[in-house]
Amino acid sequence: MATSDRSYDAVVVGAGFAGLCMLHRLRGLGLTARVFEAGSGVGGTWFWNRYPGARCDVESLEYSYQFSDELQQEWEWTERYASQPEILRYLNHVADRFDLRRDVTLNTRVASAVFDESADRWTVRTDDGDTVTARFFIMATGCLSSTNTPAIPGRESFAGTTLHTGRWPHEPVDFSGKRVAVIGTGSSAIQAIPLIAAEADHLYVFQRTANFSVPAQNRPLGADEQRAVKRDYAALRARGSQMAFGFDTRSNERSALELDDDARRAEYEARWASGGLPFLGSFADLLFDRAANATAADFIREKIRALVDDPKVADLLTPSGIVGCKRLCSDTDYFSTFNRPNVTLVDIASAPIEAITATGIRTGGAQYDVDVIVFATGFDAMTGPLLRVDIRGRGGRALRDKWAEGPRSYLGLATVGFPNLFVITGPGSPSVLSNMVPSIEQHTNWIAACLGWMEARGLRRIEATSEAEDAWVAHVNEVADSTLYPSCNSWYLGANIPGKPRVFMPYLGYPAYVQKCDEVAARGYEGFTVG
Ligand code: FAD
Ligand code: NAP
Repeated sequence: MATSDRSYDAVVVGAGFAGLCMLHRLRGLGLTARVFEAGSGVGGTWFWNRYPGARCDVESLEYSYQFSDELQQEWEWTERYASQPEILRYLNHVADRFDLRRDVTLNTRVASAVFDESADRWTVRTDDGDTVTARFFIMATGCLSSTNTPAIPGRESFAGTTLHTGRWPHEPVDFSGKRVAVIGTGSSAIQAIPLIAAEADHLYVFQRTANFSVPAQNRPLGADEQRAVKRDYAALRARGSQMAFGFDTRSNERSALELDDDARRAEYEARWASGGLPFLGSFADLLFDRAANATAADFIREKIRALVDDPKVADLLTPSGIVGCKRLCSDTDYFSTFNRPNVTLVDIASAPIEAITATGIRTGGAQYDVDVIVFATGFDAMTGPLLRVDIRGRGGRALRDKWAEGPRSYLGLATVGFPNLFVITGPGSPSVLSNMVPSIEQHTNWIAACLGWMEARGLRRIEATSEAEDAWVAHVNEVADSTLYPSCNSWYLGANIPGKPRVFMPYLGYPAYVQKCDEVAARGYEGFTVG
């Protein structure tokens, strides 16, 4: 147990879903902990992404903690897919209800962490020059917390307002009477565009790659429906634990190619009507077989053409490629927004953005004058938040150097050469290819159990072995290569960031992964050395 208030049993970086839950677990073990959070409030993703329309695409009743039955019974969700303000309220409620704030230091970015081999301690330095030490260093920095703002020439010269969806201001942004540009058409843009269009004088959407999107079919959550779930919440959670995204994403066991056109279409129509990501569960082989995938892709393309009045605009909005290879988007009125007279789709695939000027955006020789530019250009995903901290392990080796060719981990939780460092939902774990809240809880539970096990045995150091890490990395790659996922330029592969190594980062194996983690623990932390 730490004795001074400058040294702790654990330092946790980040106060989103992961950091808050980790702190609660550490307290449960009687360990001292300090959480550092760069933002001025708790909530992580839901603190930063305040753009209009931001909401979860996993159902609220499952995109929530399960560590406290009282909490899940008390909290009332108002919509099938909760909006950002509601999720942020929930996380603030959790921070208060479990008295977490007293161990959280806000407005403080962790700049570096160095492992001292003689003391088995991490020295953690913050951006204000403060230093603390801890036995365990836990990165709860999130998979999608480092924003990506492309280095478009002239960006700094823009005289209007520049926003990023992932760093949205706290004050409401008033788009009325404004000419607005949105760059990007990923999940964030697809949620924001209909609402910005409804308010702005004119909206220009700069699209490089058209995206697949299905209707969310969001709706108010009825009190009866919610009561029914709460009567047996454990059953819902148990079902969720068998499916990557919770709720009913179970694939049909059938191949899309087994059915005739009418039967296949009926399945797609039913999923389209019920809404959201379960669309991808329509058939078992959609992400394994190109011909099967093409049937789903063609169905969505047909829907887009039916929703968009101008055939030229519809063509531009119609994606090519594999549905689900980039994360499937879930929307409310996205495609029909392009029927509005105040919305212009600008195709930057055929005429890329040349420059941002003082008054707007220049592309293909045309100038679009705007008052506001919204970057909906995503994140340096998964490794970005980890590598922005200068982490040095045994022998002073930098994580940035170790991962120069791409991330290498054992179970996404630990990496060789960095003892007593844990990563929550790190690369090599299911993370972004699962409902993240249960995945976060699974990791925080596993880490807490591991620390408890070490405490009980008086152990001071734990580190993954090279053999275990090599085997895990090979397995993660082998699984990914058996699917269609590596075939497109997604952020799962690092392809959205110029110069980033192309490595498929999440592990495609939920819930088998959970079983693997449990077995590792049951076998006395197999694949780790302890001392
Ligand atoms: P985060 O919430 O990202 O929190 C990490 C925190 O660490 C941040 O607050 C950051 O400021 C802080 N931090 C990072 N580096 C440092 C540092 N060096 N020093 C101090 N603090 C630092 N997932 C789903 O499963 N379902 C969804 O519906 C869903 N919707 C999403 C919608 C949006 C708009 C986005 C961007 C992501 C969404 N995700 C969704 C993924 C989402 O990120 C996770 O579900 C979850 O919120 C992650 O929680 P976290 O605590 O791991 O990370
Ligand atoms: P994203 O999916 O990475 O989308 C970024 C968009 O910006 C893409 O359209 C991309 O085009 C474009 N872009 C990037 N760099 C560009 C450049 N230099 N010039 C022009 N266009 C550029 O990012 P996101 O929309 O923020 O979503 C990230 C992830 O967060 C999602 O995949 C999802 O996991 C999560 N999220 C979830 C929800 C939800 O529904 N709950 C909402 C938002 C986010 P290209 O495709 O051509 O690269």
